[in-house]
Amino acid sequence: MVTESVTVNAVINGEEVPAAQRYPRENPANIKEVVGYGPVTTRDQAVQAIEAAAAAFDSWARVPLAERVAHLRRAADKAEAAAEELAHLLAREHGKPLNDARGEVRGAVVWLRYASDLALEHLKEQVHRTERGRTIITHDPVGVVTAITPWNFPLVLSMNKVAPALVAGNTVILKPSPFAPLAVSRLIKMVAEEFPPGVLNLVHGDADVGVELTSHPKVAKIAFTGSTKTARAILRSAADTIKNVTLELGGNDAAIVLPDFRCDDAEAFQRFVMANFLNAGQICMAAKRVYIHRSIWKRFIDNYVSAANQWIVVGDPFEEGVTVGPVNNRNQLEFVRSLVDGARQRGAEVVPLGRITDSEHLERGYFMQPALVLGAQPDDPIVTEEQFGPAVPFLPYDDEEEVIRQVNDSIYGLTGSVWGDEEHALQVSRRIQAGTTMVNTASVLGTDLRFPFGGVKQSGIGREHGPDGLLSYTEIHVCQIPDLPPSR
Ligand code: NAD
Repeated sequence: MVTESVTVNAVINGEEVPAAQRYPRENPANIKEVVGYGPVTTRDQAVQAIEAAAAAFDSWARVPLAERVAHLRRAADKAEAAAEELAHLLAREHGKPLNDARGEVRGAVVWLRYASDLALEHLKEQVHRTERGRTIITHDPVGVVTAITPWNFPLVLSMNKVAPALVAGNTVILKPSPFAPLAVSRLIKMVAEEFPPGVLNLVHGDADVGVELTSHPKVAKIAFTGSTKTARAILRSAADTIKNVTLELGGNDAAIVLPDFRCDDAEAFQRFVMANFLNAGQICMAAKRVYIHRSIWKRFIDNYVSAANQWIVVGDPFEEGVTVGPVNNRNQLEFVRSLVDGARQRGAEVVPLGRITDSEHLERGYFMQPALVLGAQPDDPIVTEEQFGPAVPFLPYDDEEEVIRQVNDSIYGLTGSVWGDEEHALQVSRRIQAGTTMVNTASVLGTDLRFPFGGVKQSGIGREHGPDGLLSYTEIHVCQIPDLPPSR
C-alpha cells in the first residue's frame, strides 16, 4: 500500500501549473492521515484554461476521426498500465474498498475505448440524394466543453464526459470535486499528455472557479454531474450565453416490492442489499427508499436483514473482505446521521446492519454503521430527501395505485426499480417517472453504458452513455447542395 502524500496540480495548455495555495485531502478512513494536497485554482487560471481550450479547438476539431481515436487508445493503454497505482490512491482519498476502486479504474479505461468505438460507428458523414440535390449531414463538435464532476465516482464520471467530448472533436476543461481530487488528477494528467496542448485541461476549486467555467462566453457546453442544488446555480450562470447543457443530477430512487416477490430468493436479497449499500450508498441511482407490500413485510425484512448481515462488512478500504467503507466526507456523514436521528426522534426504528471489523474505526474516520429505518412517515426527510449514504428507509404499503403515486410524488426522477413477478413488475415500472426503471435489480447492477442514462424532472437534462451520449457532444450540421440548371 502506498502511504506517501501526493501533490497534484492544474494542467493548462499542456503544462502543470504550480499553485500558490493548496488544501489537504484527508483519508476518510483515518482522518489524521493527509493523502495529498489539491491546488486552489484561481479564477484567472480558470480563464487561462478556457482560453487554451478555445485556442486549441480549431485545429483539434479538424484532426481526422481515425487520428483522434488513436490518441484516445494510446491514453487508454497508458491509464491501464497505471491502474493499480490509481486504484490505491482512489481508495485512500475516497474511502471505497480497494476492489471497488479497481473496478472504477477499469471503468474509466473502458470509457476511453468505448467512446472511440462509438465515434467510429456514429460520427460518419451522411449523404442523402433527393430530387432536389444533395444533403450532407455531419456531427460537428460543439466547441469548448466544461466538465464538472462529483466525488462519488471521480474517475468514471470524469472519463464518461472527457472521452466522448474529445473523440467528437471538442476541447475540454475538467474540474473534479475537492472531496476526491487526487486520483482523477493523476489520470487526467496522463491522458492529457497524449493530446496536443490545450485539448484537455484540468482545474481545481469549487463554486468560485465553477462560476467562471459555466459563464465564460468561450465555453459552449457544460457537462455536469452533481447535485440538483448546484445545477440550479449552473443553469443561472449559463443563461446569459445560452449554453448547451447536459445535467446528471440527484435522485431519490424508489424500489417497490410487489406482493408476488419471492421471499425465498436469496440471490435477489443480495442484489437488493448491494443496490442499497454499494459505495456506502453514495450512488446517484442507489435504491434510496423501499416500499414493501404489507402482506410480505415481516418475511421480507427478516430475510433482508440476514442477507445484509452477511454481505455488509464495514472497515478500512484496504482490509480483506470489506464491502462498505467510510462515508466520503464529514458534511455527508453528518447529514446522513441527522436524517437517521431525526427519523428516530419522530418514532422510527433504526436497525443496524452488518459488522464493523474494528469498533475503533468509528473514532478514526467518517464511519457509520449501515442501517434500515423502519416505520418513518412518508413525509419524513429520510424518505423525501436524497440521503446519499448508508441508511435506507423501508415503508409498508397496501395499495399499488397509492404506492405509485407516492413514488412519483417527488421532484426527482433518475431511476426506480420494481421487484416481483417479472410481467407484473414491468407493468408497474412503466408507470414510474424516471429515466431508467429496472425489474428485479437496481442501481449500478442494472445499468449498461451502451444505453442512454439520465434523469427526468429535477434529476437532469439530457442523456449520457450510448450513441445519444456521444451525440450530445456534437451539433448537427446540415449542408444543402441543390442540383441547379447548368449555367449558360
Ligand atoms: P455537488 O453538486 O456538491 O458538486 C458537484 C461538483 O460541482 C463539484 O465538482 C463541485 O465543486 C462543483 N460545484 C459546486 N458549486 C458549483 C458552482 N456554483 N458552479 C459550478 N460547479 C460547482 O455534488 P456532490 O456532493 O459532489 O455529489 C453528490 C451529488 O451528485 C448527489 O446529488 C448525486 O445524486 C449526484 N450524482 C448524480 C449522478 C447522475 O448520474 N445523475 C451521478 C453521481 C452523482
